Amino acid sequence: MQIWVNGGLRDTDAAQVSVLDHGMTVGDGIFETVKAEKGTTFALTRHLARLTRSARGLGLPDPDLDEVRRACAAVLDANPVALGRMRITYTGGLSPLGSERGDTGPTLVVAVGETSRRPDTTAVVTVPWTRNERSAVAGLKTTSYAENVVALARAHQHGATEALFGNTVGALCEGTGSNVFVVVDGQLHTPPLASGCLAGITRELVVEWTGAQETELPLDVLASADEVFLTSTLRDVQAVHRVDGRELTGTPGPVTAKAMRVFDERAASDLDP
Ligand code: PLP
Repeated sequence: MQIWVNGGLRDTDAAQVSVLDHGMTVGDGIFETVKAEKGTTFALTRHLARLTRSARGLGLPDPDLDEVRRACAAVLDANPVALGRMRITYTGGLSPLGSERGDTGPTLVVAVGETSRRPDTTAVVTVPWTRNERSAVAGLKTTSYAENVVALARAHQHGATEALFGNTVGALCEGTGSNVFVVVDGQLHTPPLASGCLAGITRELVVEWTGAQETELPLDVLASADEVFLTSTLRDVQAVHRVDGRELTGTPGPVTAKAMRVFDERAASDLDP
């Protein structure tokens, strides 16, 4: 595999970043996961806009988006994948052992790996830990994902593939790597960005393409919602058939099935929506 590291492609075993990189030592970094199919990325412009927003949120210099685009194209060219999970990582760079960034400038790494299509339905659990909607990094896609790692492990222990968080006021927020939609009384809702959730690209497209409402909802809406689905770059629109042990019969329900159809059709006809 060939990986882009700071300006050029390297073989995996020669692709090196310092062990004192600030991303490694304190999680001072941001990332994007981009889907790539048959040599082409999906929604790259939106991903790069979010990368810049995350960089500004952390006080990192704006990434050179021309370089990031060149890196993505070079990596895809060098690593043909049928369905690829491309990862763009951008960190504070080499730093002395301390809490400050060094002055060597940021690190950029772009890699791609083969992935497989997610099943149409899945199970989720809620977790007792909260997203802090008032955190300095709320809504930023940082590499500090330890809480998500712990929550996802909890989900796996319960035979689920995703864990859902509420926020500090008990409102529904998001998953460890996905946004959540619910159907109540035939209406499709997703938590607003003020809930502390990430501005998911898939979420944004589903809101635009289906007219879903952005609504603050209590976490326990999951106990009674008629339909639930997740969105993310690698899940697309994925129906939820079980929430905390409650089976939702007839999954995917009609609203979810329509969202899946609309998403598939629109995404197939526009690779950079
Ligand atoms: N929320 C979190 C915390 C995520 O990490 C992700 C995706 O990686 C999402 C939501 C979904 O975002 P997207 O649709 O851009 O993949």
